[in-house]
Amino acid sequence: SVHRHPEVQTNREKLPILAEEQIIMEAIHDHPVVVLAGETGSGKTTQVPQFLYEAGYTKSGKLIGVTEPRRVAAMSMSQRVGFEMNLPDLVSYQIRFEGNTSEQTRIKFMTDGVLLREMAKDFRLRKYSVIIIDEAHERSVFTDILIGNLSRIVPLRAKDTENGPLKLIVMSATLRVEDFTENSKLFKTVPPVIKVESRQFETTCHFQRTTPDDYVSAALKKACKIHRELPEGGILIFVTGQQEVNQLVRKLRDLYPSKNLEKDQLDDFNGLDEEDETIEKTLRKATLKRKKGQQSKVPTRSGPMAKGVLPRVDLNQYRAIPLDDTEADAMRDDQPEEEDVLEADPESLGVTTGGQPLWCLPLYSLLNSDKQARIFEPVPEGHRLCVVSTNIAETSLTIPGIKYVVDCGKVKTKFYDKLTGVTTYQVTWGSKAAANQRAGRAGRVAPGHCYRLFSSEVFKNDFPLHAQPEILKRPVDDLVLQMKAMGIMNVINFPFPTPPEMSQLKVAERRLLSLGALRFDKASKIHQITPLGKSMSAFPVAPCFAKMLALSEQQNLMPYTISLVSALTVQEVLLETPVGNHEDSFNQDEVRKIRKIWAGKGNHLLLGDPMILLKAIHAAEYEAGSRGNMLDFCNRYALRHKAMIEIRKLRRQLTNEVNLVLPHINLALDPKMSLPDDNESNLLRQIVLAGMVNQVGRRLEVPPNITDPKERAKLENAYQCGNLADPVFMHGRSIFFLKKKTVKPPEWIVYQEVFETDRMHIRGMTAIEPE
Ligand code: ADP
Ligand code: MG
Repeated sequence: SVHRHPEVQTNREKLPILAEEQIIMEAIHDHPVVVLAGETGSGKTTQVPQFLYEAGYTKSGKLIGVTEPRRVAAMSMSQRVGFEMNLPDLVSYQIRFEGNTSEQTRIKFMTDGVLLREMAKDFRLRKYSVIIIDEAHERSVFTDILIGNLSRIVPLRAKDTENGPLKLIVMSATLRVEDFTENSKLFKTVPPVIKVESRQFETTCHFQRTTPDDYVSAALKKACKIHRELPEGGILIFVTGQQEVNQLVRKLRDLYPSKNLEKDQLDDFNGLDEEDETIEKTLRKATLKRKKGQQSKVPTRSGPMAKGVLPRVDLNQYRAIPLDDTEADAMRDDQPEEEDVLEADPESLGVTTGGQPLWCLPLYSLLNSDKQARIFEPVPEGHRLCVVSTNIAETSLTIPGIKYVVDCGKVKTKFYDKLTGVTTYQVTWGSKAAANQRAGRAGRVAPGHCYRLFSSEVFKNDFPLHAQPEILKRPVDDLVLQMKAMGIMNVINFPFPTPPEMSQLKVAERRLLSLGALRFDKASKIHQITPLGKSMSAFPVAPCFAKMLALSEQQNLMPYTISLVSALTVQEVLLETPVGNHEDSFNQDEVRKIRKIWAGKGNHLLLGDPMILLKAIHAAEYEAGSRGNMLDFCNRYALRHKAMIEIRKLRRQLTNEVNLVLPHINLALDPKMSLPDDNESNLLRQIVLAGMVNQVGRRLEVPPNITDPKERAKLENAYQCGNLADPVFMHGRSIFFLKKKTVKPPEWIVYQEVFETDRMHIRGMTAIEPE
């Protein structure tokens, strides 16, 4: 049984959902599928798993599974529930490569992708007695597919006398549940919907008369005004990304510093992100040294190391970048952002400094969990709480004590052109539904106020009612492959809550065909999965990378391919331009110089740009292995240290994964790997080509009628890529660009990605026929 701490028990009893326990549990008992809609913060995520446990749903030895679209939520909620129940061993989490499940686990939080994979292995989900799909309103692609599949699994389990029934609970914020309930393709009998009332107070929304362009400065101004003029109560500011969050937190801490704290508390308070701060300092030092001309040697594996104090980096605190995280926040900008420096002069902002200090905290998905948890800790005496957050605070996490919300109204999203695959990041208006969720965060403790940094006209005319489900916005290759591997051959007839466009499915099938993962079966007129497709589906990476892994098995190149795939999955391994808070110590020229060092001598053109990545990883790991420190090395050679740590982690995890899928090859991770020789490089090139068959480009002929030498020079760097009509340009840091004076750029190439900034660029080039 459960023995909760008295304090936990008191807090629980304040949650609106506690009053509904009986109604909820009866509905679950009586119906195979129940939809539970409730205001954010009403207690759905933390309490419903406990209700189920106490009602005996795990008595048979089966598990309660809870899926979350975000990794952060899966980890932090499992911790919270374990803590509340005072039974931490019972509650575990599993995210793609990482988890703490054990024999004792009874409640398992996981990302939706993890459950989808389990379905591929055991469609009936025999381990589970209940599946809770949490945050279903977020409409992540995997959530949609899970619900579609579960609508078929539940009836199967109803007839399964051996394993007993499976209960499905779909939980969502009070948003558009009709997509699930009024879709007869999905559930034949309409599932009951239970609405959890919450003690929500009135929130008054205030619009701006005009809509400012610079919403970060506008947010700063508004927060200052609230702090100066309005009675006590926490402030929650919504902006679009991690960089904006950090920028605002810094500024607000400068304006309203915390005075009365003990020294160590103060250090902690001022250190926005200690790790980054230290890197910043180290980088400064490194740059100074470079300026004095102390260092210009080619980084060989036994290259010189800079001396100096090592910054403290706690690897236990480190979390890998979510690969499948749907949150905009987790997506790094491909295009380096200018650091918009906020107007430093308080006068010009019309704000007064001093006065009551602010307790200002950042919140975004990549922030360490212990720092995220600070929002739940008490605010020091005499301070006003101010949290600056991305949309993670919209529904996933509830911050106590918020009375004022400042909402920029925007969201940052990664856009894929469904047909060409070109990616861009864009900041656009969110939806009316999202804006109302954000406003609702203000009315949890008392009547609240929401200050919207846009006009009511803009809200009325430019905000869509709801955000588009993710499945309509991204390529579905991986999904189609997963579904085929599960035996769902007729993808078009699948009960999607919102079906993707036919053209999207067709493009995905075509790409999988050219990868050799599918073949057209004339008799059934259906694309069937091939044995290669089957083995590809076992690797938890995108189909093009999965193919590279599947092919490496025969060639003994697996360790290299694992390094490559890990590196290609992580963004911005090599620092590009002065961006963010630590890279600014490098200027463009320095970066170019360092990149030339990486491009190095010798025939690296065999593999092209991916070779730079391989070199960088192996050199950095070699340094780490022999001198025990990688950071210094990264700093000196313009490598993003966090990316390197991520890659290390991914390599380890992919190695484990490969060993699970292909136990006979029994890989071990060798940190001190040497670089591939020419023969190996050539094989690797073929593997890269095989994975990138859908990204082929050909160099453009410069038409003779163009005579302007500048224009001609520009077009000499241009390629025709895929079915894109416009020319795409070699990236200035591509090895082929850096060497174009001595080696003619290749005519035919494969590339990793086309991305658009001021013009379209190619990332990651490999020549199809190297010189
Ligand atoms: P819902 O899922 O309905 O949005 P939750 O179950 O997530 O609600 O949250 C219920 C309450 O528990 C909220 O008031 C929230 O502030 C509190 N809570 C959640 N996680 C923590 C935590 N780690 N520490 C303290 N309080 C928490
Ligand atoms: Mg929740």
